[in-house]
Amino acid sequence: MSQPSAKLTSLPEEISLFQERPFQAVRFTSPLPGPHILVTAAVHGNETAGTFAMTRLIEQIEEGQIQLQGGALTLIPVTNPKAYRLQRRAGDRNLNRRLTPVDHPEQYEDHVANWLCPILAEHDGLLDLHSFQSGDMPFALFGPQNNQGSLEPFAQAAIEESIVQRLGCNRFVYGWLDTYAKGIARRAKEVEAGRFDAKNVDTDAMYGVGTTEYMRSQGGWAITLECGQHDDLNGREVAYQAIINTLILTGLIAGPTPSPAKDPQVLGLYDVFDRFHADDSFAKPWKSFDVITKGELIGTRADGTAIKAEQDCLIVFPNMKSQPGQEWFYLAREGGRLGY
Ligand SMILES: [Zn+2]
Repeated sequence: MSQPSAKLTSLPEEISLFQERPFQAVRFTSPLPGPHILVTAAVHGNETAGTFAMTRLIEQIEEGQIQLQGGALTLIPVTNPKAYRLQRRAGDRNLNRRLTPVDHPEQYEDHVANWLCPILAEHDGLLDLHSFQSGDMPFALFGPQNNQGSLEPFAQAAIEESIVQRLGCNRFVYGWLDTYAKGIARRAKEVEAGRFDAKNVDTDAMYGVGTTEYMRSQGGWAITLECGQHDDLNGREVAYQAIINTLILTGLIAGPTPSPAKDPQVLGLYDVFDRFHADDSFAKPWKSFDVITKGELIGTRADGTAIKAEQDCLIVFPNMKSQPGQEWFYLAREGGRLGY
């Protein structure tokens, strides 16, 4: 379960749908009442820390070493089997964008969505386990404050924030979907101004909906945990501990209540910049969470326009390979949320 078998990886890139490993959810249901918790891994196929952690946990539950006190636990060790088989981020496309059931599935991830979205909808909470290409420490992403807005209405901030700060990591990021939507609105203006062809770029904020955003749209809470660098074996331990802590905090298993992170770094995303041209270039080979001081040069557009930081901030998700009309980098500032 934890590594695609040689038999699977030796298959050609494109095989028939029925030849892909079938979708698999492992569900443990207690006869006693309690919340229904879902844990997903390998939404991006090369991010398998959570896959390993779940393999271990399934065995422990099956052998009675860990007992369910109530509720239900669903574990999906490989959410995107095609991407997992190919040991890369996506099969046909990024599963974590535009996630919604579709009437006429075309790409592989459309089929995943049609299977996964109803499962998300029947759970109260989601822990989605990922890993990253470059960076130093694990971090978690959480959702908006309670609100009745149109973009991402939400009423579960208390439980989400209470759990996220007790997962075991020390860095927390919020503000993803509203910052994404802000960037999309700006991109739509660039399309109007003729910079991009509408056919080639995404101008719908719903493109920013992944597993956690879909979960919140269905009334649940949802947390993404980036467990560490893809190949860092410690990421498996981070993932395992985060699942255990979530299950204790939601009452599914017994155990000492996990403590909140001491001295957490809480970062709010507040801006995003699209790449305009292939020759737009960064001033440095930025990595996520590099600190930028007010006035510092971040990058230079192909036409010579300098992009400088308007305030002290951190760069997040810089992408040197992004295409014109796609996100180039995000900015975040310290402080704000985590009140519960
Ligand atoms: Zn990921």
